[in-house]
Amino acid sequence: MIRPVLPGSTIGVLGSGQLGRMFAIAARRLGYRVHTYSPEYDTPTGQVADVEVTASYDDLDRVREFARRVDVVTFEFENVPFETAAAAAELAPVRPGGEVLSVCQNRVREKAFLRSNGFPVAEYRVARSSGELSASWHELGGLAVAKRAGFSYDGKGQARISSAEEIDEAWRSIGAQEAVLERFIPFDHEISVIVGRGVDGSIADFGILRNAHERHILDYTVCDPEHPLRAKATGMAHEIVEALGLVGVLCVEFFVEPSGGLLVNELAPRPHNSGHLTVDACVTSQFEQQLRAVCGLPLGSTRPLRPAAMANLLGDLWAEGEPDWPAACAVPEAKLHLYGKSEPRPGRKMGHITALADSAGEALARALEARGKLRVES
Ligand code: AMP
Repeated sequence: MIRPVLPGSTIGVLGSGQLGRMFAIAARRLGYRVHTYSPEYDTPTGQVADVEVTASYDDLDRVREFARRVDVVTFEFENVPFETAAAAAELAPVRPGGEVLSVCQNRVREKAFLRSNGFPVAEYRVARSSGELSASWHELGGLAVAKRAGFSYDGKGQARISSAEEIDEAWRSIGAQEAVLERFIPFDHEISVIVGRGVDGSIADFGILRNAHERHILDYTVCDPEHPLRAKATGMAHEIVEALGLVGVLCVEFFVEPSGGLLVNELAPRPHNSGHLTVDACVTSQFEQQLRAVCGLPLGSTRPLRPAAMANLLGDLWAEGEPDWPAACAVPEAKLHLYGKSEPRPGRKMGHITALADSAGEALARALEARGKLRVES
């Protein structure tokens, strides 16, 4: 049996954004210490961690020194190079493991993993040159989306192609590098399922989260316990986390087709923006679940305490000056979360609001109302 990493121990987090921050807050609540490692200073995670190490992911000596001082390593950012995770693994368990990271940080490997294990994905081709992109587009026929294989998220490194004339520009815009071209899916809506998997193989999911995007960035999420595809989508997420052998938390994003079909869009081997509402709405948050899983503790109950919805706060909200925080805080059962970022750039995730209510619909109305009140009149 693997011995659990008990409270009082130190967790190392690779990456230093808001996911690491909320993980560190959960870890501290249970009496753990947290060290964070990234190339940046004064980061969302570093502000609440015990130790913030600022060094390049390629500096493997610093990575080993970091891993030597912690009891287990996890990450909040899957684009940490594979070599970094491997260097850390020489000195401490890394959970989820480097192989999971390697599958999920590259769209070509991720799609191949999904397809070879029989999970449904949008039809796609792999392209390594603009010529291959062109051939792929003609094979798929019609509207398609090119996505860079690595470092592509929130619509970055992606381009829609609707005619042959757009292919060269699309290839340039995604950085002229290995990509997948997938058929555009005229989905009805998007959902995600977040699952935790423990060292002992136990699995728990947080049910269906229904997501709306703006400019390819998550705009809001609402819990949907009555979703007709609940059993099918959660079942598939359990099978995926098992097939990956992941220890930690995994988010599976799906497209729901108008016919009721389900397609897996993307995997994230860590807590996810769509699960932020679990902090205020569930017995165990997705961050505490990650902590329990990577420490070898029993998984916590994912039972929702109350219907909830979450609205993201992007840097655009600062366009007319500091948002009106007191106005948002005045909305009943609205909970404000800010990530400690000093520069509110457009499209940058600065925080979120979770609202609770008697029904999911009311919770969403409250979250959107609270966010609307933040805008100061010019
Ligand atoms: P991704 O980074 O792959 O999750 O893409 C971000 C968002 O872009 C998705 O959540 C969808 O809203 C949209 N999108 C991505 N791929 C497709 C597709 N093949 N068809 C339609 N919309 C897509």
